[in-house]
Amino acid sequence: MKYFRYDRFDIHTALNLVYEYYENKLKSQPSRTKRTVMKALQTIERHASPQMIWKRIPVIPLDIGCAIQKEQYPVKSRKFSRILSQCGEAVICAATLGKSLDHEMKRENMRMHERVVLDQTASDVMEAVMEIGQTHIQKQCRPGESVTKRYSPGYCDWHIDQQQVLFSLLPSEVLGIRLSNSFLMSPRKSVTALMGVADARTVELYGNACSRCSRRDCAFRRDQTETFILGGTQREHSHTSV
Ligand code: SF4
Repeated sequence: MKYFRYDRFDIHTALNLVYEYYENKLKSQPSRTKRTVMKALQTIERHASPQMIWKRIPVIPLDIGCAIQKEQYPVKSRKFSRILSQCGEAVICAATLGKSLDHEMKRENMRMHERVVLDQTASDVMEAVMEIGQTHIQKQCRPGESVTKRYSPGYCDWHIDQQQVLFSLLPSEVLGIRLSNSFLMSPRKSVTALMGVADARTVELYGNACSRCSRRDCAFRRDQTETFILGGTQREHSHTSV
């Protein structure tokens, strides 16, 4: 089955999601910081061109855990495997903010604090784009179906080296995204992710690993309604390849 392509992202919707998240925090910041953040948002608005591809793939039960597509692609995350084991299918997707923003972020005549803020803000816009993309995927589900929270290698107990598995299943030329030997993606603001697909009741009960996890103090905990994590790098964590 071929991949679906989605590129009808309204970058302003993604920027607004991020700005709403920042608004309160910025109130107590010096005006220089506010200006730097606004400049970063404007740079992203000018240079980002979000695109996503996705498709549904089968979940294969294994003696321990499960695999995606074929037995040779096991999901090496206990927490996420438990979720996928409840689902007959998964969605694999990849998205990027594109090469133009990547070039802009590497521009040499940029001050260090501007570079740091631009990097973090772009990570957050990438998360917002993924959130919009997930809503689009949810709308393509059959009646009664739902998708779980999305998970990316590097999140929680899912080791980053499993990017290789996802890239094995993605088309060889995937939106111009390349994976390095150290599992970093280029363009840097790119994401791969998986989400389970099941009936809505199953997703409600099992679709969030955090709701069954005893680590109450985990900084990356997501509740039922929190579908994405902004401020990823500030929390020493991100779904993106920063
Ligand atoms: S609370 Fe933290 S450790 Fe537990 S499943 Fe969620 S992200 Fe993972």
